[in-house]
Amino acid sequence: MAKPGIEIREVGKYYRTARGTVAALHDLTFVVEEGGFAAVQGPSGCGKTTLLLAAGGLLAPDAGTVVVAGADPYALASDARARFRAETVGFVFQQFHLVPYLTVRDNILAPAGALPREGARKRADMLIERFNLRDRAGHRSSELSTGERQRTALARALLNEPRVLLADEPTGNLDRDNAAVVLETLSGFASSGGTVLMVTHDDAVAGAAHRIIRLRDGRME
Ligand code: ADP
Repeated sequence: MAKPGIEIREVGKYYRTARGTVAALHDLTFVVEEGGFAAVQGPSGCGKTTLLLAAGGLLAPDAGTVVVAGADPYALASDARARFRAETVGFVFQQFHLVPYLTVRDNILAPAGALPREGARKRADMLIERFNLRDRAGHRSSELSTGERQRTALARALLNEPRVLLADEPTGNLDRDNAAVVLETLSGFASSGGTVLMVTHDDAVAGAAHRIIRLRDGRME
């Protein structure tokens, strides 16, 4: 049996607001195994973003445990947790979060730190080729098309050879061809033993995943 890539066990997240406590996630349990590709769907406010943040080691749950690639990120001190995140988890967002004044190559290299090693540079060049960005590698990301931005963001997410990819509406702004590149990348990452958790409102996009986790009011349906 495949090992678990992402384990969510009895996870609860409760936001305290002026109007009372919101159960963003409540008693949520599921496992995505290594090699697995799961889509998360549900109406706005059902807890999808909270779940991705919790799974990515960015937001500690109030109850339950999160285990990513065999480790509980919230059991680590904050420095170690940041390192764990950088080495283990790749993030892809609808809004890309590229640095506009950096070139494509430097955006892709950003997770390698201020002084990228030769290995990181070689891997960045390989990803630039793979995502068909060679003609754009020296351009600032603000000069790119939407599809080029998302391909740059994918390359950045893959730079450190993560074990897990977390994607929040990664095809939301893309035309069909660029959406297909994103989905093929996520599927290929899973086929090679990675673990993917992807939020999408688009049923056709969710169809690329092996399974769908449906949330409503912070609970699984
Ligand atoms: P989704 O991504 O499915 O739209 P979210 O995870 O963003 O859902 O939000 C889940 C619930 O938690 C919503 O009711 C939202 O209003 C609430 N929520 C999210 N973040 C906060 C916060 N920082 N403070 C208070 N409530 C929040």
